[in-house]
Amino acid sequence: MKPQLSEDEVEKVFRRLREAMPGRTPDAKGPKGQPDAFRSCISCMLSAQSLDRSTAAAARNLFALATTPEAMLALPDNRIASAIKPCGLYNMKTRNILAFCETLLADHGGTVPNTREGLLALPGIGRKCADIVLNFVFGKSVIAVDTHVHRVCNRIGLTDASAADKTAQQLERIVPRWTLRDGHFWLIQLGKRVCRSRAPDCIACPVNDLCRYYAKTKEDE
Ligand code: SF4
Repeated sequence: MKPQLSEDEVEKVFRRLREAMPGRTPDAKGPKGQPDAFRSCISCMLSAQSLDRSTAAAARNLFALATTPEAMLALPDNRIASAIKPCGLYNMKTRNILAFCETLLADHGGTVPNTREGLLALPGIGRKCADIVLNFVFGKSVIAVDTHVHRVCNRIGLTDASAADKTAQQLERIVPRWTLRDGHFWLIQLGKRVCRSRAPDCIACPVNDLCRYYAKTKEDE
């Protein structure tokens, strides 16, 4: 893949974002605010195709019943499914949660591994979940690609990918190393505050002179 932006432009994008957007805060918690790696992984699974508030409701219901793999496996399937109903796809997610808990106990004694390879080998954990857990829970230098980061990277022209996993692979190859610790936070904040899905505020955007999407919209005017 050829990055749409030159190496120099990629560097400029991240320097601007570092100036304009907040990075990792000292109180940054696990994904969806969960306090440990196990609950962070399960929350990531629950969040697939679900709004934040629906994921939060499902997680709250489920973790009121169980917070360890052993306790989760002791629950009847239908209790798990009923608890996580707010986040949708609850039958599939129930199967994934149970398979995840079984493998976690069998292969890791119940402790969530802190490597991408180890996380990806667990049922229900894809690249996005693995990288989010590596970044938020284990403090690793990884730019996790969620829906905001995926949209922003492809609009700017940092990457050229149709799916978040591919964006993550491309990003890994082009970003300067100094961006890895906080890059996720800068990109996600740009996506939430400025480069929103339906109405990007390009005029106020700190990287608009470098952005391929903005250049294209100006050409089309
Ligand atoms: S210029 Fe517009 S499209 Fe490009 S990153 Fe900024 S807000 Fe998003």
